[in-house]
Amino acid sequence: MTDKVSHLVLSVLPQVVSTDGVRAMMESALTARDRVGVQDFVLLENFTSEAAFIENLRKRFKENLIYTYIGSVLVSVNPYKELEIYTKNHMERYRGVNFYEVSPHIYAVADNSYRSMRSERKDQCILISGESGAGKTEASKKILQYYAVTCPASEQVQTVKDRLLQSNPVLEAFGNAKTLRNDNSSRFGKYMDIQFDFKGAPVGGHIINYLLEKSRVVHQNHGERNFHIFYQLIEGGEEDLLRRLGLERNPQQYQYLVKGNCPKVSSINDRSDWKVVRKALSVIGFNEDDVEELLNIIASVLHLGNVQYGGEEGNACITSDTQIKYLARVSLRPQALMSPLNLEQASSARDALSKAVYGRTFTWLVNKINTSLTYKNFSVIGLLDIYGFEVFQHNSFEQFCINYCNEKLQQLFIELTLKSEQEEYEAEGITWEPVQYFNNKIICDLVEEKFKGIISILDEECLRPGDASDITFLEKLEDIVGGHPHFVTHKLADAKTRKVMGRDEFRLQHYAGEVNYNVNGECAFVPTVMCMSENKILTQCFDREELSDKKRPDTVTTQFKASLAKLMEILMSKEPSYVRCIKPNDSKQAGRFDEVLIRHQVKYLGLMENLRVRRAGFAYRRRYEVFLQRYKSLCPDTWPNWQGKLSEGVAVLVKHLGYKPEEYKLGRSKIFIRFPKTLFATEDALET
Ligand code: ATP
Ligand code: MG
Repeated sequence: MTDKVSHLVLSVLPQVVSTDGVRAMMESALTARDRVGVQDFVLLENFTSEAAFIENLRKRFKENLIYTYIGSVLVSVNPYKELEIYTKNHMERYRGVNFYEVSPHIYAVADNSYRSMRSERKDQCILISGESGAGKTEASKKILQYYAVTCPASEQVQTVKDRLLQSNPVLEAFGNAKTLRNDNSSRFGKYMDIQFDFKGAPVGGHIINYLLEKSRVVHQNHGERNFHIFYQLIEGGEEDLLRRLGLERNPQQYQYLVKGNCPKVSSINDRSDWKVVRKALSVIGFNEDDVEELLNIIASVLHLGNVQYGGEEGNACITSDTQIKYLARVSLRPQALMSPLNLEQASSARDALSKAVYGRTFTWLVNKINTSLTYKNFSVIGLLDIYGFEVFQHNSFEQFCINYCNEKLQQLFIELTLKSEQEEYEAEGITWEPVQYFNNKIICDLVEEKFKGIISILDEECLRPGDASDITFLEKLEDIVGGHPHFVTHKLADAKTRKVMGRDEFRLQHYAGEVNYNVNGECAFVPTVMCMSENKILTQCFDREELSDKKRPDTVTTQFKASLAKLMEILMSKEPSYVRCIKPNDSKQAGRFDEVLIRHQVKYLGLMENLRVRRAGFAYRRRYEVFLQRYKSLCPDTWPNWQGKLSEGVAVLVKHLGYKPEEYKLGRSKIFIRFPKTLFATEDALET
């Protein structure tokens, strides 16, 4: 069957080149490659050189070629400008076409996963990573749009498609914010399953959210904002809606919105975004009551932020009556707010309450979207859009979780890449040559091992009654993991490291670099009063049973560890594809290629390691029929009359082309070429 098909293919191909001077043509010097670089890094002659890698990226970036492969991994550089490469025509061009026949594109990855899901009946996932502002969310939206446009549809399917697409503006309104690095930064991790029926039509979906940055609700750094929804509501909300919620049309009135001193952003139109979000909510199936209750909560968080405390040194008392009026109606009874706290404790309890309310409402929103998407047990393609490795001046618990997550994803990535390489060699009957690579399991273990990992130690300290504190936590860490090669504290460090470490920090040597973490213990907080709320959403968010639960509560870190373990399980059960996003500069500017910044990202995305594994044996491999289809015209004496087996055809062809035995190997269904230059020479011959 295969032979028949390939014979058909072979005989319709045009014959252009004579045997004369094939070798001479291979010498052809200046080609487009010198200008636009190679479209697959495996074709770099000097594949271990980081400089060559970056030079190739630069060449392509200059030509607006933002996509490049490492084998099947897609590397994408944010262009910071609209490129004409996402039209319907482009989608058509990538539909059903072999990965390697067209230039690299996010649509090629989307299409390839779709076809593998259909033909191999195996669930797929696309993992998108990169630092803030690198283009992860845009990439995931482009994939979703690709499916929405190219997959078959019926009326019922159209509703699902709409809901899938419309879940984005809603989740972005509640989960994204303007930061210094990105005007639309996702402040949560997201995994989304898209489900397809046997005809390949999208029929459902499911979203899992990870670790929303709740601290943003009560505090923003200079030049940053709170979550978009607050500004959208205040700027865009109808007059009588605002009146009902007791809100003024001025973000400066609200303590929770003034910290960053940045109410307006030139790239954002809160008023028109509000309309988009309102419409999206109704497409997803929110009725007017749902929306009103939801906005009540958003407004109550703003009111809560304006609650002021006064009073003598002893107990704090509330001095801002007007806020209480709305709060009491919206979320809780005034007497419930009475508790013996001093000023500082009262403010931090207030902020903790705001964070808890917002965080749980966000999760409720995700669940509500999930209900509207219906979930059946069909084939799925999962999209993971999750924060990349983060290093700031001051790194806290949040960065610890984010970087631990990246460590796990890197582990999965290397394991799966190696595994698939090995399996391919085995399937083709070619000897596998072991590759040296950095195995970051040692760091994952340091963080997550039972009883003696950092998370276990944190849990112990957090839940231990009595004198537990940040410092006792640090001491315990020193006791238990002090000797670990990837761990150090101020006390254990050498003189040089000590200079750049605080006494309240520990340092981890991650695969991507070293990070100092501050130990500001953040233990779980369950606000009891919220169960008494009359707001329907809040009563669902704060379950009474939670209060009566006698078992030890999990800390946030433990919850995160468990949800990550589950995520790994989900990903392991699927066939992965990878999109690695790179941010070209820190000023969100088109055309600027900041080499230092890019080198950093190449490092912590593990791209050189990835390339090394991919290039371990052979730079290039293709199925026989594809190889013949492309190059048989270089051997017109034999074709079009060749009738033999594909593998023999390839053997004849490469002999004719003068390949030396050490330059290639013939597997069961593919040819493996060791060096890019062999392939280039063949390509050049075609072009001349
Ligand atoms: P974060 O981790 O902060 O959420 P991110 O990786 O999700 O960051 P995006 O929000 O996807 O980053 O991209 C940031 C901005 O970069 C976008 O708002 C858009 O302006 C621009 N951008 C990203 N990808 C593209 C693209 N392919 N074409 C044009 N502009 C893009
Ligand atoms: Mg994002």
